[in-house]
Amino acid sequence: MTRDHEASRRSSRLLTADPRTRELFLTTLGRLILLYFAPLLLLAVFFHLQYRKLVEDSLRAHLLVIAEHQAHTFDLFLRERLVNLANLVDDPRFPYRQPTPEALEEFLVRLQQASDAFVDLGVVSWHGDLVAYAGPVHYATPVNYQYEDWFRQLLEADQTWVITEIYLGFRDQPHFTLAVRRGEGQEAFILRSALSPERLADFLANLEGAQEVHAAIVNPRGILQVATPRVGRVLQPSPFTPPREPPKGFVERHGKTDGPSYAYAWLSQTPWALIVTSALPSEARAGLLPRDRFFWGTVVVFLLMGIVILVRTRQVVGKQIAQEEHEAQLSGQLVQAAKLASVGELAAGIAHEINNPLAIIAEEVGLLKDSLDPELAQEGEVPPDLVEHLDAIHDAVFRCRDITRKLLTFVRQTEVRLELHRIEDILNDVLDVMLGNELNISNVQVIRQYDPSVPPLLTDRNQLIQVFVNLVKNAIDAMPGGGTLTVTTACNDRRVIISVRDTGIGMTKEQMEKVFLPFFTTKEPGKGTGLGLSVSYSIIQNFGGAFYVDSAPGKGSVFTVEL
Ligand code: ADP
Repeated sequence: MTRDHEASRRSSRLLTADPRTRELFLTTLGRLILLYFAPLLLLAVFFHLQYRKLVEDSLRAHLLVIAEHQAHTFDLFLRERLVNLANLVDDPRFPYRQPTPEALEEFLVRLQQASDAFVDLGVVSWHGDLVAYAGPVHYATPVNYQYEDWFRQLLEADQTWVITEIYLGFRDQPHFTLAVRRGEGQEAFILRSALSPERLADFLANLEGAQEVHAAIVNPRGILQVATPRVGRVLQPSPFTPPREPPKGFVERHGKTDGPSYAYAWLSQTPWALIVTSALPSEARAGLLPRDRFFWGTVVVFLLMGIVILVRTRQVVGKQIAQEEHEAQLSGQLVQAAKLASVGELAAGIAHEINNPLAIIAEEVGLLKDSLDPELAQEGEVPPDLVEHLDAIHDAVFRCRDITRKLLTFVRQTEVRLELHRIEDILNDVLDVMLGNELNISNVQVIRQYDPSVPPLLTDRNQLIQVFVNLVKNAIDAMPGGGTLTVTTACNDRRVIISVRDTGIGMTKEQMEKVFLPFFTTKEPGKGTGLGLSVSYSIIQNFGGAFYVDSAPGKGSVFTVEL
């Protein structure tokens, strides 16, 4: 099985059972999601917006192209109609001196062959009288155009042609008038023809691109001249009046936020503008944006990423758990190693301790032997101080047993065993039994300042002994010429505080920063291992306590344990 497999198996096993693993799993998952998803989401939104803008821009450009193109074609159409009329009037056979309806009829047919938009044909004198007419309208009374705008434009403004806006006129029906003047003053006469709005609308409806748009032609006052039914009806106000400048353009969401957008282009032949709006329903326009494809694409990518992240999280958590287990194992080994190192040093002290009672035993046994010697004692007589000697031997043996037992419990114990202990008892054992002799030899005076209100602690006696043996031994080493060791206990806000202060050589700031690191030692080889404080630190941490140091060179040190 690969390491990754092993890691994820471990994480899935622990995920169900261990709240710490679950928490680790969730935080790692959260971090990975943030790390992978957040940039991806931002990118997805960014590209979506960019793409949307691109599509909208191209839709807009497309509408504008249609508007321009249609305006141009419509211009051409009007120009052609003018040319048709002008050709007629310039025809030498045209009977402008004595025009008759019959003669005009013939020319009207010619006109209508050119375009079915022409409705009729009439000749108007310079007085404005309609002198001859061919077409579908029957005028009951004579018609005079002298007050009509288009007539005045032709004669007074000296124009040779005119195209009117749509109006009702004498016939009372919407139509456009196309008129051409020939001659000056009294010689002048005018040829006019009406253009059918329906035919113009048909023409508009059949222009290129017409199926994509609703189109209309409006005058500068916004009155519809030609319109497809979806935009409105002729002579009615247009839903949109384009600005004069620029001569062509696009107006987004006209009127309201969800209103239609219009493209427009002004004609050159007449002061009209052609306007178009998209004929595609807004859903269809939205369909141009690949919303569905984009959405599902994003969902698939996110799902895949989700799976990858889940697998990765399980691997990471598995590895971390394995690492922690490994560290815990190492730390256990370190504690054991430090213990063995201490045992070596302790052994010397113990040997010394045991030497005394053993010497006593040896002496007492010698005395006993002497008193039982038949040459020295009288037969049948029990030596008078036999009980005393036996008591001394008994005491010495018990002392030896006590010392060895403590040594063995210290060495053997590996599991944490929590029991209620008085902290003073533990400290006294360290100061009197374990290191009492060493303190004496090193000329260290011990001051105990125990706070009687400190309650018994639920703790592991052996591990605490290991910590304090370490602290006291370090203090002894720091006071080579002797000094004072002050051991204090205090109670503060449910915490028990034990401090071990010496009047030794102290430490520099740099040393203080390193004392809790494994293998940091300033002692000569063979004397220090550099493990004592680091192991003590991990023991106190395991108890949920705090362990810190304060010191200055030459001023001694104080180590404080908070439990
Ligand atoms: P070791 O005693 O084997 O060197 P420790 O981890 O117990 O390992 O101590 C690390 C180092 O911390 C010591 O070598 C010494 O330099 C410094 N130190 C520890 N206690 C004291 C103290 N009471 N006074 C001065 N220095 C100390």
